[in-house]
Parts: sequence; C-alpha cells; structure tokens
Amino acid sequence: MTFEWKTIDSALRVEPGKPSKLSKRDTACDNLFADKREGEALAKANAKAIDRLQDALWAEGSRALLVVLQGIDTSGKDGTVRGVFNECGPLGVNVTAFGTPNEQELAHDYLWRVHKAVPRKGLIGIFNRSHYEDVLVVKVRGLVPADVIEQRYAQINAFERHLSENGTTILKFMLHISKDEQRKRLQARLEEPDKHWKFNPGDLEDRKLWTQFANAYETMLDRCSTEHAPWHVIPSDRKWQRNAAISSIVRGALETMMPLYPKARWKPGEFIIE
Ligand code: AMP
Ligand code: MG
Repeated sequence: MTFEWKTIDSALRVEPGKPSKLSKRDTACDNLFADKREGEALAKANAKAIDRLQDALWAEGSRALLVVLQGIDTSGKDGTVRGVFNECGPLGVNVTAFGTPNEQELAHDYLWRVHKAVPRKGLIGIFNRSHYEDVLVVKVRGLVPADVIEQRYAQINAFERHLSENGTTILKFMLHISKDEQRKRLQARLEEPDKHWKFNPGDLEDRKLWTQFANAYETMLDRCSTEHAPWHVIPSDRKWQRNAAISSIVRGALETMMPLYPKARWKPGEFIIE
C-alpha cells in the first residue's frame, strides 16, 4: 500500500478561484481507495503518522495546524475527530466545538470566539463547526442582513491569511453527504437507544432547508478556498472513506510542514547521570 496523499488531496481540493460545483461532487467515491479493508488500514497508518508528526511539531514549538470541520447534521464531524486523531496523545490536540453563540460571544464580533480558540504553537487544533457557521446557518436563517454576510467572506479570508502568515497551517474539510444518507442517519438516531441522545428535533428543521444550506455551502467553497487555507470536499456517505481521505490529507500537510526536533543544546558526554 503506497501513501498517495497528493492524488487524494488534488482530487478533493477546491481549487482557489474556481467554482466548487458542489452538486457535481461525490458523496461516496469508488476510485480513491481499493476497498474498505485498504481504506481502514490506510487511516490507521495515517493516524499513527499524525501522532509522530505532532510530537515533532510540539518539540519544534514554532508552528501549529488548524483543522476545520464543517458539514450538516449527521455528516460525521465528531466521528472524524474520533477516527483520524485517535492515535494522538491528548496533550497534542485541542478540539473546540462551536455551538449557538452565547450572550458574551454575541456581544463581540463573530471572529472573537474563534481567534481565542486557535491552536497554540506545537498543537493540532480541531474546529468542530467554526466561523463558517456565520456564513452558513446565520445566512440561511437570515440572522444578520445579507450585506453583512457578503462582507464576511473577505473578512474570513483575511483572518485565515493572518493566521497562516503567523505560523498556522490551515486545512478545511466539508463533510459531504447525500440527503438520503442523512435520512438514514437521522432515522438511526430515532431507532437505536444508544443514539437517542443525539436526536435533536431542530435537525429536522435544518433538513427542510437542505437546498438553502447546499447553496450557502457552495458559495462558501467558491469564495473561501484559498492557497493559504484550502477547502476539501470529502465524500462522507461512507465513514471509512471519509476517515481515509481526511487522515491522508492531514498527514500529507504535516509531512510537507516537516517539523524538526530541535538539536540538543549540550555536547555528548557533557552530563553524567549518577
Ligand atoms: P451541534 O453541532 O449539533 O451540537 O449543534 C450546534 C448548533 O449550533 C448547530 O445547530 C449550529 O448551526 C449552531 N451554531 C453554531 N455556530 C453558530 C453561529 N455562529 N450562529 C448560530 N448558530 C450557530
Ligand atoms: Mg446537531
């Protein structure tokens, strides 16, 4: 099994400046991985490699990686955290879930809570939802005027450029599932006792707005996939494909960053342990 992350990366990347054509993108893919067994083995090997690379990133202490996960309800954001970063030591990753803003957050600009949560140098930060909610749910539900939304795409690009110029590599993943797959997953939440807690009647309200959300996602991808913070659209109907794809791209990005362990500041033989 060879590790061809570049093939996976370029197949799923939204080229900056080009239309994302979201509706033409696959929610399941048959051409990237041979089969489920190979995909799972790849994800496992990637998870181990991500752990090793993060260790070096921490030792190096000068850069960070930010992974942004977006996707509609049931698209698998939590499952991705579990499936891709399960080999990482708890000290090395920092997961932040962004829900409905509280009173204090609403009293600030929408990037305030986000900037506070970005990873410190040496860490992998994971955003489960993100500032992109402010051009997705906020847009679809009309929570702020359209001209305010319109300004945000450029603001977000500038914010992400600022992070990247200050040592944070950014990867953004949209977990792409079909409407039919969402129905199955919501149904499972109604039927399986272990999943009842995940069911939220509000998700059905969002499902009714499927087309509006798809349009908002497409605009977000068209406007905010940049060289310094590219979007990838991940086929996510099958969890193993999702994990294999995302872990490959994350590993590839970390290998490209090439974090280095610092050289020892003492000479061999300088210290003797009694
Ligand atoms: P969940 O991720 O299922 O726990 O749900 C979090 C909820 O918070 C989702 O319904 C999001 O749409 C909502 N949410 C997250 N960020 C924002 C935001 N900036 N404005 C409004 N709602 C948000
Ligand atoms: Mg939810």
